Amino acid sequence: MRPLVKRIDMALHIQELCAVNHITVSYQSLDDNIPNYYANQRKKHIHIRPTKNTGYYVSALHEIGHIMGDNQSYNNTVKEREIGAWIWAMLNAKVWTDTADRVMSRALSSYGVSQEESREIQQRWNPCHRDDEKQIAV
Ligand SMILES: [Zn+2]
Repeated sequence: MRPLVKRIDMALHIQELCAVNHITVSYQSLDDNIPNYYANQRKKHIHIRPTKNTGYYVSALHEIGHIMGDNQSYNNTVKEREIGAWIWAMLNAKVWTDTADRVMSRALSSYGVSQEESREIQQRWNPCHRDDEKQIAV
């Protein structure tokens, strides 16, 4: 059996990816109700929430994907950039769950990507083992 991915592993993974790729990070307070994630490509900076669950983890990976992923140039449409950043997130995630699916398809739907298209992207690009949320160890 594969070792469990712990929350601390997800948090450290984000920090490691940022360190290795010289990306600076700022954190939104967990007290804020409205999530405020963004990436500044030119400054190589991301703003994320502390990585406390798989939803926050894949959201952080997505922002790194806006810096490291394919299709992130000004020649790409916003939709292409969003999809490119999610593909990068899937290719680099240590764990992927139903919550991660939901976070991704909800985010993409606001850029005009249908649920079905989201599922196709997921099936084509996601190399992750599927994990049950309950198996994510604290
Ligand atoms: Zn995005």
